[in-house]
Amino acid sequence: MAVPLLDLSRQYAYLKPELDKAVINVLTHGKFILGPEVAELEQQIASYCKTKYAIGVASGTDALLIALHACGVGPGDEVITSNFSFFASAGVISRLGATPVFVDIEPDSYNLDPKLLEQAITKKTKVIMPVHLFGQMADMDPILEIARKHGLKVIEDGAQSIGAEYKSRPCGSLGDLGCFSFFPSKNLGAGGDAGIITTNDEALYDLCRILREHGQKPQYYHRIVGYNSRLDTIQAAMLLVKLPYLRKWSEKRIEHAARYDRELANVPGIVTPRVMPYSTFHIYNQYTLASPKRQRVFEGLRAAGIGTAIYYPVPFHKQECFAYLGHQPDQFAHSTKAGDEVFSIPIYPEMTDAEQTEVITTVKRLVLD
Ligand SMILES: *Cc1c(COP(=O)(O)O)cnc(C)c1O
Repeated sequence: MAVPLLDLSRQYAYLKPELDKAVINVLTHGKFILGPEVAELEQQIASYCKTKYAIGVASGTDALLIALHACGVGPGDEVITSNFSFFASAGVISRLGATPVFVDIEPDSYNLDPKLLEQAITKKTKVIMPVHLFGQMADMDPILEIARKHGLKVIEDGAQSIGAEYKSRPCGSLGDLGCFSFFPSKNLGAGGDAGIITTNDEALYDLCRILREHGQKPQYYHRIVGYNSRLDTIQAAMLLVKLPYLRKWSEKRIEHAARYDRELANVPGIVTPRVMPYSTFHIYNQYTLASPKRQRVFEGLRAAGIGTAIYYPVPFHKQECFAYLGHQPDQFAHSTKAGDEVFSIPIYPEMTDAEQTEVITTVKRLVLD
C-alpha cells in the first residue's frame, strides 16, 4: 500500500462545503486586497497565539523579512539563528544585507543550543532568531534571558510550530515578534503562499503594517521603503475556515506520534524524536527519525511508495551561498550529523491506522535488514 507523505485532498474533501462557500464569498464581494477576512484572521490568530496584534503578509519568508526589517536589521548587523532549518531562516538575513551567524543545535531537540548562544554574540548582533523546528519549540527561557542581558530583540521562526507551546505559553508570544507560514504543508495551510507576524509591541506592529504596503503611511507618503507583501483575502478566507480545526488536527498528529514512538523507539538503529520537558505542546509538523542507515531506509521507503523527505540534508554552514562566511565543513557537529541522518515519515491528521501500520512495518523491515 502506498502512503503519501501528505495528502491535502482529504482535508479538502472534509471541508469542501465550508471552503467553497468562503472562497466564493470573496469572489462575490471582490475585496481581494486587505478585505475584511484579513483583519478577521489577524484578530483570530492574535487570540490563538495570545498576542495583542497580528499582521498578515504574503508568506512565512516575508514574515521573517519584515520582522527583521522592523527590528532595524540592515548592512553591518549580525543576526543569530539556528544552523539547521529551512533555508528561509538564513536567507532573509542575507537579503537585508546583514550577516547570518549560525549556532549549532542540541542533538536531541534539533533546535538552537542556548548554551552556545552567548559566545556567538558580538557588538554587531541585533537580533536572535530561534527556529521552532518540526513543531517543537526551542528552549526559550535561556534564549530570552541572554537576549535581555545583551539588549537584543528576539524573533521566533514559528513557521512549523503554530499552536505549539513552551511551558504552556504559545509559540509567537514569547519573543518580540513571532513569524508563521501558511504554506500548504504547514499544520495550518492556505491555498498558496501566506504568512503572519505576531507581536505585543505596538510600535513594531505599526512598523510591520507599514512595511507590508510599500512603507506608506498615509497612502502615497513614504517615510521608509517597504514591500508589497499582503496576505490575500482569499487565503485569509480559507484560513478562517481551517483555524477552528487546528487544535484537533494537531492532537491527531500527537496521537500518530505516540504510536510511532511506541512501535519504533526500541528498534535498534533508529532514533525517535525526543519531546523536551519544556515542550508542553509539540505539534509534529514533521515526525522526524534519525538513522545512520538513513540513505538505505530513505531509498527503500521511496521504492515501497511510502512518502518520506529529508528535512534538511545540508546545514547552513555548508551551503554554497554562505561559503563567504568561511566556515569549515567539520564545524557544527550536531547539525552536520542531523543533516546526514534525519528523515521524516507521514504524520498528517487524516492518516489511517492501516496506513500507519504500513509505514511502521516498512521502516522496521528496512532498518533491521
Ligand atoms: C516554511 C518555513 C519558512 C518559510 O515559509 P514560506 O511560507 O514557505 O515562505 C520559514 N522558516 C521555516 C522554519 C519554515 O519551515
